Amino acid sequence: MKIQAAVVWEAGAELSIEEFDLDDPREDEILVKVEAVGVCHTDDNARLGRLPVVFPIILGHEGSGTVHSVGANVTRVKPGDRVLFTPDYCGRCEQCRLGLTPYCEDVVAVTFTGTRPDGSPRAHSGDRPVRASFFGQSSFATHSLVTERNIVPVPADAPLHYLAGFTCGVQTGAGAILNAMPVGPGRSVAIFGTGAVGLAAVMAASACGADEIVAIDRVQHRLDLARELGATHAIDTTSQDLADVTAEVTKVTGKGADVALDTTGNPAVILAAVSALATHGTASVITSSGPPVTLPPGVLLLKGRKLRGSMGGHINPTVFIPRLLDLHRQGRFPVDRLVRNYPFTEVNTAIADSLSGATIKPVLTLT
Ligand SMILES: [Zn+2]
Ligand SMILES: [Zn+2]
Repeated sequence: MKIQAAVVWEAGAELSIEEFDLDDPREDEILVKVEAVGVCHTDDNARLGRLPVVFPIILGHEGSGTVHSVGANVTRVKPGDRVLFTPDYCGRCEQCRLGLTPYCEDVVAVTFTGTRPDGSPRAHSGDRPVRASFFGQSSFATHSLVTERNIVPVPADAPLHYLAGFTCGVQTGAGAILNAMPVGPGRSVAIFGTGAVGLAAVMAASACGADEIVAIDRVQHRLDLARELGATHAIDTTSQDLADVTAEVTKVTGKGADVALDTTGNPAVILAAVSALATHGTASVITSSGPPVTLPPGVLLLKGRKLRGSMGGHINPTVFIPRLLDLHRQGRFPVDRLVRNYPFTEVNTAIADSLSGATIKPVLTLT
């Protein structure tokens, strides 16, 4: 079928919305009419060629929409059902079988090659193949092919125009707090960086009843929002060095934070996050790029602290996304506060606003 999709023809080029031919769904595939799709920094990193993608490629990896048609072997959904897309995974490796699909051992091929597992592209421009399986979805498009692996069915009335952002940055922040480093009453949390990931972590920490939730950033309006979303303390780093920030976290939590989350990838901030931990506290990083982190061993040893990675929220999306949807329905995870909608035609503006921080979580709408 003919679709409109935002393609990048070569590394560094702007996204361009053009017409393509999308294959009919194969027996294991689901054709979805896309309604809304989140924008995140990963799209721009792919556009710039910083990730191992092959051009031309249709980007977009936080899609959602209504099932249009399904292949013969699909049983989980039927036409008319509404779904969120998750990042794809192989479904066969040990991590996938454990349900921890963000750690799929084949993640690079599944996520970035942009083809089906057999190497075929899902779209063409004339005779030219176009990669249309970025994160198993390439959802900057009017229609997208996905599989049963990478969808989560949602209720018919689900507000996709802001829930579309759930399956990447939001799940990463929320999952770090709810899954990777469980937090609860009597515990304290320090969150370094209050973009979409950090604010999702703030909401998650609030939802699970953490006593102290300390938000740290240098943008005052984000700190204000963090407070509205449940942060009990906000530290503006504009005019103080990180040693003072560490001291302030220790002061407001009494003994240091039980859990700290770095969303910045900045080595000095990661060191500050670890240094702000209480005895036996755990800090987590969620970024894969950035300069090396230098950590004096004593910072870990003397208090038995841990520094770990938490990929994609350390979750099983089939279990965790419905849990976040429940929290949202209960009013305990107001993700709509982070979102600003843009028409699909403004995809380049939405990416620019995400990078500049003008918008915390852009979501493109197609209806
Ligand atoms: Zn796998
Ligand atoms: Zn993302």
